[in-house]
Amino acid sequence: MMETKIKSSQETLQRVSSISEMKKVSQTLRKQNLIIGFVPTMGCLHEGHLNLVKRSLENCDRTVVSIFVNPAQFGPNEDLDTYPRQLEIDIAKLEAIGVDILFHPTSEEMYPENYKTYVQVNDLTEHLCGKSRPGFFKGVSTVVLKLFNIVQPHNAYFGEKDWQQLAVIETLVKDLNLDVVINRVPIAREADGLAMSSRNRYLSPQERQAALSLSHSLKKARDKIRQGTTSAKEISHLIRQYLLEEKGAEIDYISICDPENFREKEQICDRTLIALAVKIGSSRLIDNCIIEDF
Ligand code: AMP
Repeated sequence: MMETKIKSSQETLQRVSSISEMKKVSQTLRKQNLIIGFVPTMGCLHEGHLNLVKRSLENCDRTVVSIFVNPAQFGPNEDLDTYPRQLEIDIAKLEAIGVDILFHPTSEEMYPENYKTYVQVNDLTEHLCGKSRPGFFKGVSTVVLKLFNIVQPHNAYFGEKDWQQLAVIETLVKDLNLDVVINRVPIAREADGLAMSSRNRYLSPQERQAALSLSHSLKKARDKIRQGTTSAKEISHLIRQYLLEEKGAEIDYISICDPENFREKEQICDRTLIALAVKIGSSRLIDNCIIEDF
């Protein structure tokens, strides 16, 4: 007979900040044959994050969420110091939906003095965000591998908003033979289409309006492709024109590419990723969509 997996009587969120304690907690859960779901985040939680958490809560016996603003993935001129942080509000959100464990280590705990080891996924990281954010994916891969080793999850949940990041993590898991299943969760959007992001809170009301140009231009592109346009150049031009109508929008990239290896396409005739990175004011925003119904 299957053993019933009963949640602990104490239903409050367990907060863990030390690596050794987190490892002990996970080892104990594993000894009890409980399935651990894990959602790594940088905090400032919104519905997009909470969708990942809900998927874990539905499918796993225990859910661990990490909140860690990872210095290794920020470039020298990026927003590490100003990245939004609101731990107590995040804790209330996690408690409200019944998360079991919050892991929130300090930077010193994760990267002590004399820290030297980084992992690098090649090739995939040479495209899209990897071009404009050198070192970003090295930082992401390193922290995700560290977090997997610490939390020892059976399942981990990542959002398709960061499509390239997901591909990099899937490759990391495959290449390094990690025992964790990566689960993809679709992009969560605001009612008007803006992809949810912790960085959206940097936007002034005017910038918030301008930021809609990302999702709107993707919709325009999708419509045009549905009407029969297959030239990637033409679609890219259409998106560019649309984005440039927005004063203050600075395009980092528009990519029409293979969703697995990110090689640019000339013709849109099979599964295709359209990915954008655009700076609105001081915020660099990303969005994407998959074209697949031909
Ligand atoms: P972050 O806190 O930005 O590092 O994101 C943590 C996780 O939440 C990553 O797997 C992201 O892809 C995911 N995520 C962030 N925003 C969204 C969104 N709008 N929709 C789906 N997943 C998201």
